[in-house]
Amino acid sequence: METSRLGVPKKTCKAILTTDMDNKQIIKTLNEHNHGLNQQKAESQQHRIRVRKASGGITERPSKIILLLCDGFRWDYLDSNGKDLKGFKRLLNEGVKADYLEPVFPSLSYPNYYSLMTGLYCEDHGMVGNYMYSEERGERFDMMANPECRNSHWWEDAEPFWITAVKQGKKTYMFEWSGGEFPHKGFSSTYSIPVDGENWPMFPEMKRNIQKSLDMFKSDEIDMAGVFVWEIDKWGHDIDTKSDEFNQKLVEFDTAIDSLLDQLEQQSLRDKVNIVIFSDHGMKDISPERTVDISHILNTTDVKIFTDRGHMCNIWPHDHKLEKVYSDLKKLNNDHITIYRKDELPERWCYKHHKLVPPITVVAESGWFILTPEYPSVTSRGWHGFDNVEKDMRGIFLATGPDIKKNEKVGPMKAVDVYQVLCKLLHVKPLPHKGEWNRVQDIFL
Ligand SMILES: [Zn+2]
Ligand SMILES: [Zn+2]
Repeated sequence: METSRLGVPKKTCKAILTTDMDNKQIIKTLNEHNHGLNQQKAESQQHRIRVRKASGGITERPSKIILLLCDGFRWDYLDSNGKDLKGFKRLLNEGVKADYLEPVFPSLSYPNYYSLMTGLYCEDHGMVGNYMYSEERGERFDMMANPECRNSHWWEDAEPFWITAVKQGKKTYMFEWSGGEFPHKGFSSTYSIPVDGENWPMFPEMKRNIQKSLDMFKSDEIDMAGVFVWEIDKWGHDIDTKSDEFNQKLVEFDTAIDSLLDQLEQQSLRDKVNIVIFSDHGMKDISPERTVDISHILNTTDVKIFTDRGHMCNIWPHDHKLEKVYSDLKKLNNDHITIYRKDELPERWCYKHHKLVPPITVVAESGWFILTPEYPSVTSRGWHGFDNVEKDMRGIFLATGPDIKKNEKVGPMKAVDVYQVLCKLLHVKPLPHKGEWNRVQDIFL
């Protein structure tokens, strides 16, 4: 995509200017007077910036930005529970909401954390699962619970937003955000609090991290804060998402958002900070009645290693055993799973062309659970990771702030679309990505 000096797509710059007839006339006049002279062109740019700033458009100095990544917040939690979510209502009135956010496949946390922050699919950024195995290195990635997850090779196929921002002179703070504390080819987030793979951040930590972000915005120590919270995903796995207990969790999250908006107003930051709230995937009800047991195949000496369970199982057979394992799985003749050799995986998932994708993948029908030796029964109420076009896998995207339209709805977005939004808001020139501008262009003033 063609971009201007600030990484803002040229088409959009024009759109901003032409929506205000007075500004259009002023800029046109300035451009005519300054024609052909660099110095005067520079002055014209200054005028243009000043005019746009006065009209509430993209400001000369970019607004600061706070990202709130709420794990597992399904798209219909905002509508389906019939509750009065005060904070979200304020967000809707004062900002933009997408119909829903379609995750990348698999609809899991790590693949989507990285797609949201790179604008790329799994086969591009290489974060292909929550649990991965590198045959090349004989090493496992187990959702930050083992020290090997910190090795740079898992993370370096693509450069995340916060690193690009730092490279372009921004100051960033990643709060318990997976990958946020790691150096990336010599660059790191300006500040970070590492994620603890055993104790993921819940609402108290989120509130503390939001408070710290606002303090550092106020003292001008940072330009961008990324705050991660796991709590909604945890309860979505554990309890009925239609229960009063779950509803209380949503209300608690909503209250924190309401309080964030209050604090921004009280601290005179409301017109200086853009807020972007999004999730990585949704949640689907599962049941002990809907399982497919493949343990006996994984227990054989034919399989070297397998990872993950439930929505899918990744299988690395021993040498020369691929066809045997594949045909053994096929013999199950179960309609609720699909067995793929690597080259048979659907192209539409933008997933299979990566070295970390195993020779055999078993994928469950949405709402069904694949049992493995490590997970011989269903102990959760909800699960995700299923086909990314499944309705229940959808997440949310909302934004509000000085550079964002008010009371505006946009159509469905994809996880890969979020990166370009963040780049534009922070005036960061984006790296090549797979987001589509036409899905996000109506977000901005
Ligand atoms: Zn997640
Ligand atoms: Zn989860």
